[in-house]
Amino acid sequence: PLASFLPGAPISHGELERKAKELEDANEALLVQIAERQRIEDTLKKKQADLDHAARLSTMGVFAASIAHEINQPLTAVASTAEICKRWLAEPAPEIGRICSAFNRIEREANRASEVVRRVRSIVAKRPAETLPLSLNAAIEDVLPLIRNGLKRQRISLRTELDSRLPTVMGDRIQLQQLFLNLVTNAMEAVAGNPEHGREIGVSTKAGPGGEISLSVRDNGPGVAAGDLQKLFEPFSSTKPEGMGLGLSICRSIAEAHGGTLSAHPGFPAGMVFVTTFSQRGEA
Ligand code: ADP
Repeated sequence: PLASFLPGAPISHGELERKAKELEDANEALLVQIAERQRIEDTLKKKQADLDHAARLSTMGVFAASIAHEINQPLTAVASTAEICKRWLAEPAPEIGRICSAFNRIEREANRASEVVRRVRSIVAKRPAETLPLSLNAAIEDVLPLIRNGLKRQRISLRTELDSRLPTVMGDRIQLQQLFLNLVTNAMEAVAGNPEHGREIGVSTKAGPGGEISLSVRDNGPGVAAGDLQKLFEPFSSTKPEGMGLGLSICRSIAEAHGGTLSAHPGFPAGMVFVTTFSQRGEA
């Protein structure tokens, strides 16, 4: 009856029970929906993590496998020839001639290995073929969206201080963005072990009095022992289980191809600061 729908109208016991049942059913359906949504969200999160992982592995993995192969051959030759040399030297009357030629082989193979490393560096950081005037700040701002998700997911706070008085640089935009992304990715990996509310990265650009431009990426991660600072830039030096140890070596090549430098410094009070400095004209 109409009356039962009016506010304050008496509701029969049966109707109350029916409404309670309806509410209960709706509640149950809602709970199922929430659980389903949570499940989908978890699956998506896992998929995203898998995708990130796969993307990293597929590019890095293929690259790493081919480099590893190229380098492994000469290194195996070096090791086995050195072994033979030791055996020959232990003989009662060592034959100097053949030992010398074995040493020559060791030298040749070692040079072959370092040539591979040199080639890898030059492939990844070719001297800019075409250098164009560009705004370093704009180049950085362009790639920030690429890392936003990762920062959010890992609860890392990013502070940017881009100097608006920065003069134009001559350079290869993609390479400079690659350098920046490498440094930020390293910083993100460095702070990952910090407690959730203590993961901080700072990015800044600055115009120096002599027209030079610097780009700094700092983090409050565990940092690096002073004695190990130079080693960071050596190719294939990595402390990460899946690390290639090429990032910083490539970054330094890019900075140098732009007439600049890249250096690593202990952060204050903790962490690391990586500073790239370019002269204003780029000199590439
Ligand atoms: P990868 O990241 O593949 O290991 P990199 O050349 O980029 O190669 O870095 C080499 C090593 O330098 C890393 O394995 C790590 O030990 C160290 N490193 C780089 N950046 C940082 C940083 N921000 N804080 C602490 N250690 C760092």
